[in-house]
Amino acid sequence: MIRTTVGTTIDRKWDRRIRRADELASTYPFSAEGLRYYSRIATFQKNLYTEIQKALASTPKISADRPLRDELDLFLLLPHFSGFLNVIQQIAPSALAEAAAGLAQKGPAGWQHAIEDFWHGDLELNAAAQGADPINGSNGDDPSYPDRSLAWMFLQPYAEYLADHRETASLDGTPSTCPFCGGKPVAGVLRSEGDGGKKSLICVLCAYEWAFRRIYCPACGEEREPQMAFYSAPEIAHVRVDVCDTCHTYLKTIDLTKTGLAVPVVDEIATTPLDLWAREHGYTKLQINLLGI
Ligand SMILES: [Zn+2]
Ligand SMILES: [Zn+2]
Repeated sequence: MIRTTVGTTIDRKWDRRIRRADELASTYPFSAEGLRYYSRIATFQKNLYTEIQKALASTPKISADRPLRDELDLFLLLPHFSGFLNVIQQIAPSALAEAAAGLAQKGPAGWQHAIEDFWHGDLELNAAAQGADPINGSNGDDPSYPDRSLAWMFLQPYAEYLADHRETASLDGTPSTCPFCGGKPVAGVLRSEGDGGKKSLICVLCAYEWAFRRIYCPACGEEREPQMAFYSAPEIAHVRVDVCDTCHTYLKTIDLTKTGLAVPVVDEIATTPLDLWAREHGYTKLQINLLGI
């Protein structure tokens, strides 16, 4: 007899991400550096998720009509923040590591400010990241971007915990942003259903996955078929670039009908050549990923 608790299922979810990142680091040498970095961030996030789970084990589920970002347990989160900044200083590319060192010096009041600023803000990370290239050590033009990016990495497991422990509600339609927290989709997913694939989107902050229309632009609402296209490369056949020729936005979709082993958020990070291709062809990403790409 095998006993499975909710805890082990959740741990497995993080372990699958970490394992997939480690595997792909050897299969996709072009993304190895970014994947190794992601793997270490995900390890910190897994541990934080476990701590949150322990601390909140006896609290009731959040009701479905309450916006997820109405919650913010600073009493629980703040004591973990300096440890997080330490980890980032050790593993991150130099520009982000420097930002973490700067934030570390600000002390608890500054940490609280950075966390609240991000959590209650508009979650807009793209504009702030213009010109940023965190892997190669550039933070872009916006001085607030590094702190927001750090708050995002830190708060992602908390948001995901809240989404995992929320009453489920029936969805009205197919919203273009996360129905739980308002975050933009960081990736699309295709799962098999009947003859075709069922499309869904994954939230950049809380990782909630919601059903979405197959032909519809989540950035501008375009639904005319000739304006929507997708591109794929034979070497990375299970990930495609969905583009909209009306607003010139793109989002990558991971086709799980082709590779059941894929872990969407990780495969999204692993396929940077597709981002380069999209950028070269004049498309802007709907939502940058945790590595700022
Ligand atoms: Zn969300
Ligand atoms: Zn569009």
